[in-house]
Amino acid sequence: MKYALIIPDGAADERQESLGGRTPLEAAWTPHMDALAREGMIGQADHVPASMPSGSDVGTMSLFGYDPLKYHTGRAPIEAAAQGIELGPLDWAIRCNLVHIADGRMRSFTAGQIPNDLARELIQLLQKDQCGSPTWKFHPGVSYRNLLIYRSRGEPAPFSRETKTVPPHDIPDQPVASHLPQGPGAAELCGLMERSAPLLAASARNQERRHGGGLPATQTWLWGLGKTPALEPFLQRFGKTGAVITAVDLLRGLARLLGWQVIDVPGATGYLDTDYAAKGRYAIDALKGVDLVVVHVEASDEASHEGHADKKVEALERIDADIVGPLHRFLKSQGDYRILVSPDHPTFLRTKMHSHGYVPFALCGTGIAADESATYDEFAARRSKVAVPGHELMPLFLAG
Ligand SMILES: [Zn+2]
Repeated sequence: MKYALIIPDGAADERQESLGGRTPLEAAWTPHMDALAREGMIGQADHVPASMPSGSDVGTMSLFGYDPLKYHTGRAPIEAAAQGIELGPLDWAIRCNLVHIADGRMRSFTAGQIPNDLARELIQLLQKDQCGSPTWKFHPGVSYRNLLIYRSRGEPAPFSRETKTVPPHDIPDQPVASHLPQGPGAAELCGLMERSAPLLAASARNQERRHGGGLPATQTWLWGLGKTPALEPFLQRFGKTGAVITAVDLLRGLARLLGWQVIDVPGATGYLDTDYAAKGRYAIDALKGVDLVVVHVEASDEASHEGHADKKVEALERIDADIVGPLHRFLKSQGDYRILVSPDHPTFLRTKMHSHGYVPFALCGTGIAADESATYDEFAARRSKVAVPGHELMPLFLAG
Protein backbone atom coordinates (compact mmCIF):
# COMPACT_ATOMS: atom_id res chain seq x y z
CA MET A 1 0.00 0.00 0.00
CA LYS A 2 1.25 3.47 -0.91
CA TYR A 3 0.28 6.58 1.03
CA ALA A 4 0.32 10.30 0.21
CA LEU A 5 -0.37 13.13 2.64
CA ILE A 6 -0.73 16.65 1.26
CA ILE A 7 -0.57 19.53 3.73
CA PRO A 8 -1.91 22.89 2.51
CA ASP A 9 -0.43 24.83 5.43
CA GLY A 10 -2.88 27.11 7.23
CA ALA A 11 -5.60 26.42 4.63
CA ALA A 12 -8.51 26.25 7.10
CA ASP A 13 -10.20 29.61 7.51
CA GLU A 14 -13.43 31.52 8.13
CA ARG A 15 -16.00 32.69 5.59
CA GLN A 16 -14.89 35.91 3.89
CA GLU A 17 -16.97 38.83 2.72
CA SER A 18 -14.50 39.37 -0.13
CA LEU A 19 -15.14 35.79 -1.29
CA GLY A 20 -18.91 36.15 -1.39
CA GLY A 21 -19.37 34.73 2.11
CA ARG A 22 -17.32 31.61 1.40
CA THR A 23 -14.14 30.25 3.00
CA PRO A 24 -11.05 30.10 0.74
CA LEU A 25 -11.53 26.31 0.50
CA GLU A 26 -15.19 26.81 -0.48
CA ALA A 27 -14.32 29.51 -2.99
CA ALA A 28 -11.37 27.71 -4.60
CA TRP A 29 -11.96 25.47 -7.65
CA THR A 30 -10.62 22.20 -6.23
CA PRO A 31 -12.11 19.28 -8.21
CA HIS A 32 -9.39 16.85 -7.07
CA MET A 33 -9.84 17.53 -3.35
CA ASP A 34 -13.59 17.25 -3.88
CA ALA A 35 -13.02 13.89 -5.59
CA LEU A 36 -11.27 12.67 -2.42
CA ALA A 37 -14.35 13.70 -0.44
CA ARG A 38 -16.70 12.00 -2.92
CA GLU A 39 -14.73 8.75 -3.17
CA GLY A 40 -13.88 8.61 0.52
CA MET A 41 -14.60 10.50 3.70
CA ILE A 42 -14.13 13.90 5.27
CA GLY A 43 -13.90 14.93 8.86
CA GLN A 44 -12.30 17.30 11.30
CA ALA A 45 -9.10 16.98 13.29
CA ASP A 46 -7.66 19.28 15.92
CA HIS A 47 -3.89 19.33 15.78
CA VAL A 48 -3.02 22.13 18.17
CA PRO A 49 -3.76 21.65 21.89
CA ALA A 50 -5.38 24.74 23.42
CA SER A 51 -2.50 25.15 25.84
CA MET A 52 0.11 25.47 23.05
CA PRO A 53 0.77 28.28 20.58
CA SER A 54 -0.56 27.43 17.13
CA GLY A 55 2.07 26.74 14.49
CA SER A 56 3.34 24.15 12.05
CA ASP A 57 5.81 22.72 14.58
CA VAL A 58 2.92 21.64 16.81
CA GLY A 59 0.41 21.01 14.01
CA THR A 60 2.56 18.79 11.82
CA MET A 61 3.93 16.82 14.78
CA SER A 62 0.32 15.94 15.57
CA LEU A 63 -0.50 15.30 11.91
CA PHE A 64 2.43 12.85 11.76
CA GLY A 65 0.93 10.93 14.69
CA TYR A 66 2.85 12.27 17.68
CA ASP A 67 0.95 14.00 20.49
CA PRO A 68 2.57 17.43 20.81
CA LEU A 69 1.59 17.62 24.47
CA LYS A 70 3.89 14.65 25.03
CA TYR A 71 6.68 15.25 22.52
CA HIS A 72 6.94 18.93 21.67
CA THR A 73 9.82 20.80 23.32
CA GLY A 74 9.95 23.90 21.09
CA ARG A 75 10.14 24.95 17.49
CA ALA A 76 13.81 25.80 17.30
CA PRO A 77 15.28 22.36 18.17
CA ILE A 78 13.29 20.92 15.23
CA GLU A 79 14.75 23.54 12.91
CA ALA A 80 18.22 22.83 14.32
CA ALA A 81 17.74 19.17 13.30
CA ALA A 82 16.86 20.43 9.81
CA GLN A 83 20.21 22.13 9.57
CA GLY A 84 22.07 19.12 10.92
CA ILE A 85 22.96 20.98 14.11
CA GLU A 86 23.40 18.46 16.91
CA LEU A 87 22.38 19.56 20.37
CA GLY A 88 24.05 18.28 23.53
CA PRO A 89 21.93 17.37 26.57
CA LEU A 90 22.37 20.83 28.09
CA ASP A 91 22.10 22.79 24.82
CA TRP A 92 19.09 24.83 23.75
CA ALA A 93 18.06 26.01 20.30
CA ILE A 94 16.27 29.36 19.94
CA ARG A 95 14.50 30.70 16.84
CA CYS A 96 16.03 34.00 15.80
CA ASN A 97 13.84 35.97 13.39
CA LEU A 98 15.11 39.08 11.69
CA VAL A 99 12.16 41.46 12.11
CA HIS A 100 11.15 45.02 11.38
CA ILE A 101 9.78 46.86 14.40
CA ALA A 102 8.73 50.53 14.05
CA ASP A 103 7.21 52.75 16.73
CA GLY A 104 7.32 49.78 19.08
CA ARG A 105 5.10 47.67 16.83
CA MET A 106 5.80 44.41 14.97
CA ARG A 107 5.55 45.68 11.39
CA SER A 108 7.10 42.65 9.69
CA PHE A 109 8.05 39.32 11.24
CA THR A 110 10.07 38.62 8.06
CA ALA A 111 11.86 41.98 7.81
CA GLY A 112 10.03 42.35 4.50
CA GLN A 113 10.99 38.83 3.30
CA ILE A 114 14.65 39.77 3.72
CA PRO A 115 16.82 38.17 0.99
CA ASN A 116 18.97 35.18 1.94
CA ASP A 117 22.33 36.80 1.23
CA LEU A 118 21.64 39.89 3.33
CA ALA A 119 20.14 37.82 6.16
CA ARG A 120 23.27 35.67 6.15
CA GLU A 121 25.50 38.75 6.28
CA LEU A 122 23.54 40.16 9.23
CA ILE A 123 23.61 36.88 11.14
CA GLN A 124 27.39 36.74 10.61
CA LEU A 125 27.58 40.27 12.00
CA LEU A 126 25.75 39.12 15.12
CA GLN A 127 27.99 36.05 15.35
CA LYS A 128 31.10 38.24 15.30
CA ASP A 129 29.70 40.09 18.31
CA GLN A 130 28.67 36.77 19.93
CA CYS A 131 26.56 38.88 22.28
CA GLY A 132 29.68 39.16 24.38
CA SER A 133 29.86 35.44 25.22
CA PRO A 134 31.08 32.27 23.43
CA THR A 135 28.01 30.47 24.81
CA TRP A 136 25.90 31.98 22.01
CA LYS A 137 26.23 30.64 18.48
CA PHE A 138 24.22 32.10 15.58
CA HIS A 139 23.34 29.95 12.56
CA PRO A 140 21.98 31.49 9.35
CA GLY A 141 18.96 29.68 7.88
CA VAL A 142 16.64 30.78 5.07
CA SER A 143 15.72 34.48 4.86
CA TYR A 144 14.32 35.72 8.19
CA ARG A 145 14.34 32.22 9.75
CA ASN A 146 17.60 31.87 11.67
CA LEU A 147 18.79 30.12 14.80
CA LEU A 148 20.64 30.95 17.97
CA ILE A 149 22.13 28.03 19.91
CA TYR A 150 22.94 28.08 23.59
CA ARG A 151 26.07 25.92 23.79
CA SER A 152 26.54 24.83 27.37
CA ARG A 153 30.08 24.49 28.62
CA GLY A 154 28.94 22.38 31.57
CA GLU A 155 26.65 24.91 33.19
CA PRO A 156 22.86 24.48 32.83
CA ALA A 157 21.01 26.94 30.59
CA PRO A 158 19.06 29.74 32.26
CA PHE A 159 15.88 28.47 30.51
CA SER A 160 13.26 25.92 31.46
CA ARG A 161 9.93 24.62 30.13
CA GLU A 162 8.41 27.58 31.98
CA THR A 163 10.17 30.07 29.69
CA LYS A 164 7.42 31.63 27.56
CA THR A 165 8.03 33.38 24.24
CA VAL A 166 5.69 34.77 21.60
CA PRO A 167 5.99 33.94 17.88
CA PRO A 168 6.40 37.25 16.02
CA HIS A 169 3.88 36.20 13.34
CA ASP A 170 1.24 36.07 16.06
CA ILE A 171 1.53 39.79 16.86
CA PRO A 172 1.27 41.56 13.48
CA ASP A 173 1.23 45.37 13.90
CA GLN A 174 0.85 44.96 17.66
CA PRO A 175 2.96 46.69 20.32
CA VAL A 176 5.84 44.35 21.17
CA ALA A 177 6.39 45.53 24.75
CA SER A 178 3.59 43.34 26.12
CA HIS A 179 4.83 40.26 24.20
CA LEU A 180 8.44 40.00 25.36
CA PRO A 181 9.81 36.71 26.77
CA GLN A 182 8.76 35.78 30.29
CA GLY A 183 9.98 33.31 32.90
CA PRO A 184 13.42 31.76 33.45
CA GLY A 185 16.06 33.28 31.15
CA ALA A 186 13.72 36.03 29.88
CA ALA A 187 16.19 38.73 30.89
CA GLU A 188 18.93 37.06 28.81
CA LEU A 189 16.65 36.81 25.76
CA CYS A 190 15.53 40.44 26.05
CA GLY A 191 19.14 41.53 26.47
CA LEU A 192 20.17 39.66 23.31
CA MET A 193 17.36 41.23 21.28
CA GLU A 194 18.29 44.73 22.52
CA ARG A 195 21.93 44.13 21.71
CA SER A 196 21.09 43.21 18.11
CA ALA A 197 19.44 46.56 17.32
CA PRO A 198 22.53 48.81 17.12
CA LEU A 199 24.49 46.09 15.28
CA LEU A 200 21.83 45.79 12.56
CA ALA A 201 21.39 49.58 12.42
CA ALA A 202 25.11 49.92 11.63
CA SER A 203 24.88 47.73 8.50
CA ALA A 204 24.78 50.01 5.46
CA ARG A 205 23.44 47.23 3.21
CA ASN A 206 20.60 46.63 5.64
CA GLN A 207 19.67 50.32 5.77
CA GLU A 208 19.83 50.57 1.96
CA ARG A 209 16.68 48.42 1.83
CA ARG A 210 14.67 51.54 2.66
CA HIS A 211 15.58 53.11 -0.71
CA GLY A 212 14.03 50.27 -2.66
CA GLY A 213 10.87 50.49 -0.54
CA GLY A 214 12.03 47.43 1.47
CA LEU A 215 12.17 46.99 5.21
CA PRO A 216 15.53 46.77 7.00
CA ALA A 217 15.87 44.30 9.86
CA THR A 218 15.70 46.42 13.01
CA GLN A 219 16.43 43.66 15.53
CA THR A 220 16.23 39.95 16.23
CA TRP A 221 13.16 38.36 17.81
CA LEU A 222 13.95 35.29 19.92
CA TRP A 223 11.31 32.60 20.49
CA GLY A 224 10.38 28.92 20.23
CA LEU A 225 13.28 27.70 22.32
CA GLY A 226 13.78 24.13 23.48
CA LYS A 227 15.97 21.03 23.79
CA THR A 228 15.92 18.16 21.28
CA PRO A 229 12.59 16.22 21.44
CA ALA A 230 12.69 12.45 22.07
CA LEU A 231 10.71 11.25 19.03
CA GLU A 232 10.42 7.54 18.27
CA PRO A 233 11.29 6.97 14.59
CA PHE A 234 8.20 6.70 12.32
CA LEU A 235 9.18 3.28 10.96
CA GLN A 236 9.37 1.89 14.48
CA ARG A 237 6.08 3.44 15.53
CA PHE A 238 3.99 2.90 12.38
CA GLY A 239 5.95 0.34 10.33
CA LYS A 240 6.15 2.58 7.24
CA THR A 241 9.04 4.33 5.52
CA GLY A 242 8.53 7.97 4.62
CA ALA A 243 9.77 10.95 2.67
CA VAL A 244 8.87 14.62 2.86
CA ILE A 245 8.84 17.43 0.32
CA THR A 246 8.84 20.90 1.82
CA ALA A 247 10.62 24.22 1.53
CA VAL A 248 10.33 24.86 5.25
CA ASP A 249 13.16 24.05 7.67
CA LEU A 250 10.77 23.06 10.41
CA LEU A 251 9.28 20.24 8.36
CA ARG A 252 12.71 19.06 7.23
CA GLY A 253 13.83 18.89 10.84
CA LEU A 254 10.79 16.98 11.98
CA ALA A 255 11.27 14.59 9.05
CA ARG A 256 14.91 14.00 10.00
CA LEU A 257 13.96 13.39 13.64
CA LEU A 258 11.38 10.81 12.43
CA GLY A 259 13.89 9.11 10.14
CA TRP A 260 12.25 10.19 6.88
CA GLN A 261 14.02 11.12 3.68
CA VAL A 262 14.03 14.82 2.87
CA ILE A 263 13.63 15.44 -0.85
CA ASP A 264 14.84 18.72 -2.30
CA VAL A 265 12.74 20.08 -5.13
CA PRO A 266 14.25 22.80 -7.31
CA GLY A 267 11.89 25.77 -7.41
CA ALA A 268 10.25 24.98 -4.04
CA THR A 269 10.37 28.37 -2.32
CA GLY A 270 8.04 28.13 0.68
CA TYR A 271 6.26 31.14 -0.79
CA LEU A 272 3.49 31.95 -3.24
CA ASP A 273 5.78 31.56 -6.25
CA THR A 274 6.69 27.96 -5.41
CA ASP A 275 6.85 25.39 -8.25
CA TYR A 276 3.74 23.37 -7.42
CA ALA A 277 4.00 21.05 -10.41
CA ALA A 278 7.59 20.12 -9.56
CA LYS A 279 6.47 19.17 -6.06
CA GLY A 280 3.82 16.91 -7.56
CA ARG A 281 6.32 15.22 -9.89
CA TYR A 282 8.93 14.67 -7.18
CA ALA A 283 6.28 13.25 -4.85
CA ILE A 284 5.26 10.67 -7.46
CA ASP A 285 8.92 9.80 -7.96
CA ALA A 286 9.47 9.45 -4.19
CA LEU A 287 6.59 6.98 -3.87
CA LYS A 288 8.54 4.48 -5.93
CA GLY A 289 11.00 4.18 -3.02
CA VAL A 290 8.99 4.74 0.17
CA ASP A 291 5.59 3.81 1.66
CA LEU A 292 4.46 7.33 2.56
CA VAL A 293 5.19 10.65 0.88
CA VAL A 294 4.29 13.94 2.57
CA VAL A 295 3.98 17.07 0.45
CA HIS A 296 3.86 20.27 2.46
CA VAL A 297 2.96 23.58 0.81
CA GLU A 298 3.52 26.79 2.74
CA ALA A 299 1.95 29.17 0.19
CA SER A 300 -1.59 28.99 1.62
CA ASP A 301 -0.25 29.98 5.04
CA GLU A 302 1.83 32.85 3.66
CA ALA A 303 -1.18 34.24 1.77
CA SER A 304 -3.13 34.16 5.05
CA HIS A 305 -0.38 35.98 6.94
CA GLU A 306 -0.48 38.65 4.25
CA GLY A 307 -4.27 38.84 4.41
CA HIS A 308 -4.72 38.15 0.68
CA ALA A 309 -7.89 36.07 0.20
CA ASP A 310 -7.47 35.90 -3.58
CA LYS A 311 -3.88 34.64 -3.29
CA LYS A 312 -4.96 32.04 -0.76
CA VAL A 313 -7.63 30.79 -3.16
CA GLU A 314 -5.06 30.70 -5.96
CA ALA A 315 -2.58 28.72 -3.83
CA LEU A 316 -5.28 26.16 -2.99
CA GLU A 317 -6.24 25.80 -6.66
CA ARG A 318 -2.61 25.22 -7.63
CA ILE A 319 -2.16 22.64 -4.87
CA ASP A 320 -5.27 20.89 -6.13
CA ALA A 321 -4.37 20.94 -9.82
CA ASP A 322 -0.60 20.34 -9.62
CA ILE A 323 -0.20 18.12 -6.56
CA VAL A 324 -3.43 16.43 -5.38
CA GLY A 325 -4.65 15.62 -8.90
CA PRO A 326 -1.43 14.08 -10.30
CA LEU A 327 -0.71 12.18 -7.07
CA HIS A 328 -4.21 10.71 -6.92
CA ARG A 329 -4.02 9.68 -10.60
CA PHE A 330 -0.65 8.02 -10.05
CA LEU A 331 -1.72 6.23 -6.87
CA LYS A 332 -4.81 4.81 -8.57
CA SER A 333 -2.69 3.53 -11.45
CA GLN A 334 -0.25 1.59 -9.28
CA GLY A 335 -2.47 -0.48 -6.95
CA ASP A 336 -3.53 -0.17 -3.32
CA TYR A 337 -3.25 3.33 -1.95
CA ARG A 338 -4.54 5.97 0.38
CA ILE A 339 -4.43 9.73 0.03
CA LEU A 340 -5.07 12.32 2.73
CA VAL A 341 -5.36 16.10 2.52
CA SER A 342 -5.18 18.03 5.78
CA PRO A 343 -3.87 21.39 6.93
CA ASP A 344 -1.86 21.46 10.15
CA HIS A 345 -3.73 24.41 11.67
CA PRO A 346 -6.11 27.19 10.59
CA THR A 347 -4.62 30.56 9.63
CA PHE A 348 -7.20 33.32 9.53
CA LEU A 349 -7.12 36.02 6.85
CA ARG A 350 -9.01 38.25 9.30
CA THR A 351 -6.28 38.16 11.95
CA LYS A 352 -3.33 37.16 9.68
CA MET A 353 -2.56 34.68 12.46
CA HIS A 354 -2.41 30.95 13.09
CA SER A 355 -5.45 29.82 15.01
CA HIS A 356 -6.60 26.91 17.15
CA GLY A 357 -9.52 24.64 16.37
CA TYR A 358 -10.54 21.98 13.90
CA VAL A 359 -9.22 21.71 10.36
CA PRO A 360 -11.05 19.71 7.68
CA PHE A 361 -9.46 16.57 6.25
CA ALA A 362 -10.34 14.42 3.23
CA LEU A 363 -9.23 10.81 3.01
CA CYS A 364 -9.85 8.18 0.36
CA GLY A 365 -8.40 5.00 -1.11
CA THR A 366 -8.28 1.26 -0.51
CA GLY A 367 -10.54 0.14 2.33
CA ILE A 368 -11.99 3.59 3.03
CA ALA A 369 -15.78 3.54 2.77
CA ALA A 370 -17.41 6.51 1.04
CA ASP A 371 -19.51 8.82 3.19
CA GLU A 372 -22.08 11.23 1.79
CA SER A 373 -19.73 14.17 1.31
CA ALA A 374 -19.23 15.71 -2.11
CA THR A 375 -16.90 18.62 -1.38
CA TYR A 376 -13.86 19.30 0.78
CA ASP A 377 -14.17 22.39 2.96
CA GLU A 378 -14.61 23.47 6.57
CA PHE A 379 -18.40 23.39 6.63
CA ALA A 380 -18.77 20.10 4.79
CA ALA A 381 -16.32 18.58 7.28
CA ARG A 382 -18.32 19.98 10.17
CA ARG A 383 -21.48 18.35 8.81
CA SER A 384 -19.74 14.97 8.55
CA LYS A 385 -19.76 14.64 12.37
CA VAL A 386 -16.37 12.85 12.24
CA ALA A 387 -13.97 14.58 14.62
CA VAL A 388 -10.69 13.11 15.86
CA PRO A 389 -7.88 14.33 18.11
CA GLY A 390 -5.10 15.38 15.73
CA HIS A 391 -2.52 12.72 16.56
CA GLU A 392 -5.13 9.98 15.93
CA LEU A 393 -5.52 10.95 12.28
CA MET A 394 -2.28 9.27 11.18
CA PRO A 395 -3.22 5.91 12.81
CA LEU A 396 -6.64 6.21 11.10
CA PHE A 397 -4.94 6.97 7.77
CA LEU A 398 -2.63 3.94 8.03
CA ALA A 399 -5.09 1.51 9.68
CA GLY A 400 -6.21 -1.77 8.16
ZN1 LIG B 1 2.34 30.47 9.33
